Amino acid sequence: MSEQRSAGGLVVFDHPLIRHKMTTLRDKSTSHRPFRAVLAQIAGLMVYEVTRGFETERVEVQTPMTTTTGWSLRGRVTVVPVLRAGLGMVDGVLEVMPEARVGHLGLARDERTLEPTTYLRKLPSDLDAGPVVLVDPMLATGGSASAAVQMLREAGANDLRMICLVAAPEGVSRLRADHPDVTIYAAALDEKLDGRGYILPGLGDAGDRMYGTV
Ligand code: URA
Repeated sequence: MSEQRSAGGLVVFDHPLIRHKMTTLRDKSTSHRPFRAVLAQIAGLMVYEVTRGFETERVEVQTPMTTTTGWSLRGRVTVVPVLRAGLGMVDGVLEVMPEARVGHLGLARDERTLEPTTYLRKLPSDLDAGPVVLVDPMLATGGSASAAVQMLREAGANDLRMICLVAAPEGVSRLRADHPDVTIYAAALDEKLDGRGYILPGLGDAGDRMYGTV
């Protein structure tokens, strides 16, 4: 079965389970341990929809009864978290797609300009071997996401999509303007950014919330 590649646009999840779990993450009284667990659960649930367009190929499979036709994902899937907060989503994604490879991008945000600088880049050499899924819980200004997509393209990725938990309209606009072919999957679309580039109502600093460094 062959379906379409990432075609651009924004997909916001409208699902009771995801809305319920997102409320746990937003709650400031949720401590880092449940925060991490729930964040990974949401990422895992999102994978079901994110992978809908992945290509499959026909394979022959021997059941205990007979030989029949089955399906195998085509190509090699690569998940790329933006450090630090993206790491929390990887476990959830790998829970449902354990065969995926994991690349890493370390991007830090300059608190004054809000623009990203790179401190780590570790990616498979054949990123064009299949779909690439960029994961970062917070799509805020879109600066880091746009830079990350650009780096992945330059490293060979040609079938890209992004998963985030909370997207700000500003980040969606920036990413769509810079990379219109990259579909954005978000668990929630929030109202706006504050003056420091934090998402409102948001959930605070996702990395701090995950690792208890608030
Ligand atoms: N990064 C975060 O962790 N939270 C925000 O609200 C914005 C960027």
